[in-house]
Amino acid sequence: MSESLLPIYVDTRKAFLQQEEISGSVALENLPRFADSLVDNRGVVNVELQFSTNESNLRLIKGHISARVKVACQRCLEPLAVELEDEISLVLFEQDRIEAELEPQFDSWISGEYKLVLAELVEEQLILCMPIVNFHENKDCLDNLNYLGNEIEQTDEQANPMSPFAVLKKLKK
Ligand SMILES: [Zn+2]
Repeated sequence: MSESLLPIYVDTRKAFLQQEEISGSVALENLPRFADSLVDNRGVVNVELQFSTNESNLRLIKGHISARVKVACQRCLEPLAVELEDEISLVLFEQDRIEAELEPQFDSWISGEYKLVLAELVEEQLILCMPIVNFHENKDCLDNLNYLGNEIEQTDEQANPMSPFAVLKKLKK
């Protein structure tokens, strides 16, 4: 795990020209949009980024992100640790372009500013690599589920013992 913090931004006029390579961590609490989907915003994302240009003079951002985050299990609602890991392959454009120009492994990233805010880029990539559903795989989770299931069944029986007509019949007697 990298000890240093990722810079807040890079200067795009220099980063691609000098083929900068940067790495560091971003605190999850600084990624509020992503942290919203977590049960706990403690922890960091480890980021490695390489800036370069290709033969067509496209500005490439390649790299890697990894993080260990806690989300709610969608079966038992208890916290669940998820390892996130993804490769970054972006082409930086100043304005929106037709995606078809890109090689399929690249996505586009739009920023007309010289200051490229790295946390925004990292946050978007994290959101994209987050699994849509998360479940515990162990038995505890199923036990919790059975326990919850029984409770729900019982409550249903108690809550709906007889129909309104049955109640009416009883009252008439
Ligand atoms: Zn669970």
